[in-house]
Amino acid sequence: MTNTSFDTKIVHHKADQSLVPNSKSTPIYQTSAFTFKDLDHLESYYEGNSPYLYTRERNPNTDELAGTVAELEEAPAGVASSSGMSAILAGILAVAKPGDHIVAAEDVYGGSHKLITKELPTFGIDVTMVSFSNLEEVSEAITDKTKLLYTESISNPFLRVEDLGGLVALARKKNVKTMVDNTFATPYLLQPYTRGVDLVVHSGTKYIGGHSDVTCGVLVGSEELVQAATQKIVTFGANLSPFEAWLTQRGAKTLGLRMKKQSYNAKQVAKVLDEHDAVRTVYYPEKVSERGNGAIVTIELNDSIDIEAFFRSLGWVKIAPTLAGVETTVSYPVRTSHRALSDEEREKIGINDYVIRLSIGIEDHEDIIEQLKKAIADSKS
Ligand code: PLP
Repeated sequence: MTNTSFDTKIVHHKADQSLVPNSKSTPIYQTSAFTFKDLDHLESYYEGNSPYLYTRERNPNTDELAGTVAELEEAPAGVASSSGMSAILAGILAVAKPGDHIVAAEDVYGGSHKLITKELPTFGIDVTMVSFSNLEEVSEAITDKTKLLYTESISNPFLRVEDLGGLVALARKKNVKTMVDNTFATPYLLQPYTRGVDLVVHSGTKYIGGHSDVTCGVLVGSEELVQAATQKIVTFGANLSPFEAWLTQRGAKTLGLRMKKQSYNAKQVAKVLDEHDAVRTVYYPEKVSERGNGAIVTIELNDSIDIEAFFRSLGWVKIAPTLAGVETTVSYPVRTSHRALSDEEREKIGINDYVIRLSIGIEDHEDIIEQLKKAIADSKS
């Protein structure tokens, strides 16, 4: 769909509805395979004239979701997968082969950190983790074997906003590809592909789905790279189920509305906590986009707070090892997302016992603020 705005595109992107052309909502093609009326029909699949054979390879619901995210990111192609993690792995393996080297940001999501540092070497891929705040450091880490620079557009949990222009310029100079996890920003705030990034990945489990009821991943980029990643997803069996794709697609229809409200709420929360005497530091980015700065606020409480009591006093704000749902939740990186890191690795990126990540929801912002202030007041030792 061309010449339409974000909110229009997102509700009008549709799966191929040739089977049920007048269904307002896309049907769920909850099938593991597709049937053929005769051998000519079967042959037409292999000749590229009939798209569907076997759901692990392709399904209308996963196509619809991948197409929606690709359209929102303004990328030519997309593929959906079983999780953000499998989309990240498929994207990296689409670029890097045994004997190659990648450079990744040391402050990426803990699961990505583990995948990159512990699993990629078992595929014969060498890895160097550096701080991407300093592109000189990134440049120095690039060798003649380097194929990919991997980072997040807004990092987890400290919300460092990547210098995408600088990164792409460096990558082009060194003739390496770039891959960016855009989960926290979503295409509502940032579209890294339009800035020259080669592959953009999402944990669709988060804002794209938005309701904390699915686990999924989406990768977008050029036809060639997405095709290579799709082969990995198909071969590893890391495909997304039709129902999960359908649920994510349904959730995605309100992405613009949710991001607008959640970013607004997050800004109000960040402002109040910034002035609170029990909060040592508030991490909330600025100037991410004209549409807002995202809905995650990370705080470091001061040591007058009894952390166990804080988590016990949160009332309707639940502790959850995820983010991006419509409800406000809190997470504790030291015990969840960054648990797998060594103490040394955690210390290097600044994660300590007082760091808490708030995922701000769509509730009334004054209620969220009141609940957080109460939890802080109840946990002052
Ligand atoms: N990327 C980011 C920024 C995340 O926060 C997460 C999960 O929290 C992932 C990727 C992994 O996604 P999934 O849990 O869908 O595999």
